[in-house]
Amino acid sequence: MKIISLTAEQLAVPLITPYHLSREYGVFRTATPVLVTMETDEGVTGYGECDPWPLFTGDSADSVMTVLLKHLFPMLLGADPTNINEIHRLMDAVIRNQHIAKSAIDMAAYDVFGKKTGLHVSALLGGKRRDAMRCMWSIGGSTPAESAADVLRAKEAGYFGCMIKVGGADWKRDAERTLAVRDAVGPDFPLIADANQGWDVNTAIRYANAVKDADLVFFEQPLQSWDAEGMAKVRRSIPMPLSADEGVVTVVDAKRLIAADAADVFSIKVTKMGGIRPAKQICEYAEAHGIRVFFNSMIEEGITEAASIAIAATVTNPVEEIGHAFFSPLRLHGDICDYYKYIHVSEGETWIPDKPGLGVVPDPEAIGKYLVRRETVR
Ligand SMILES: [Mg+2]
Repeated sequence: MKIISLTAEQLAVPLITPYHLSREYGVFRTATPVLVTMETDEGVTGYGECDPWPLFTGDSADSVMTVLLKHLFPMLLGADPTNINEIHRLMDAVIRNQHIAKSAIDMAAYDVFGKKTGLHVSALLGGKRRDAMRCMWSIGGSTPAESAADVLRAKEAGYFGCMIKVGGADWKRDAERTLAVRDAVGPDFPLIADANQGWDVNTAIRYANAVKDADLVFFEQPLQSWDAEGMAKVRRSIPMPLSADEGVVTVVDAKRLIAADAADVFSIKVTKMGGIRPAKQICEYAEAHGIRVFFNSMIEEGITEAASIAIAATVTNPVEEIGHAFFSPLRLHGDICDYYKYIHVSEGETWIPDKPGLGVVPDPEAIGKYLVRRETVR
């Protein structure tokens, strides 16, 4: 089987409600996914998505388009998409890093491989261990009363837990919000907090101890992505487990964090980590070191979510006290595929698709609505 053409589609999809994040990121208003369509000489077509976010990943939609069109696509014409290791070797041989752009190609190759064999991607990864994942919601920054009302709505809708975005300029205000949320939802609704690199060691420790009574399942990435030693200091001084997100992109990052005793949980995001193959590798490395995995998302559409849940179906070490982040398209104006069919908010879970490949079908009309630019290399 050979790749005969690759198409990149740059999209701009508005969020339904602006998302107020840490002081590092500000307010997020429009997602900019890039879709990859991979056509083969056997008539099997695969789809992938990547989700650049300049302040988070160091990539923009424009930079990803350049990497795809000028570097990766020409290298991959004629390659066998069912040999995922070779696809990665070819990509790494032409340009280093660029995990975001590479993730869309990795997903499209897995989608082709699954469709050709009649198997869902979870089967290609060793097989499903579950048929559904518990699903949580996430809320941005606002006043304590608004945060409490937002999380209460999520609980009533059926989500199995909620993430509170913190990391703002005033940590005491974030602590007040966190405690107000706990008061509103009662003692049994699972909560986590994510500071998205917004704080230093002392601020992170002060916040985490101030919200001890909120009984967070874990606290995510308070420090800059590179600061493994700082994360270890925070971890030793707080009452809840600590999660790494921006700090764990590659398996080498995972090794460094584990060596520093810097995390209890890794936030797994397929696009951040460069695709299904590297994300699965990090899950297995985490398992071998007693680290649990939390399936998280960028602001992404359903193709990336479908790739993420295919991995989640297979792992032995997911965090179980709270749902995972398989809701992202609901934050957006519209999805570009039929992934939404698998989200069952009132039951607090997302089902694992069982059709071949990633199991989702793109919606050309929705893609057309959000399209900024489309280019094909053949
Ligand atoms: Mg995070």
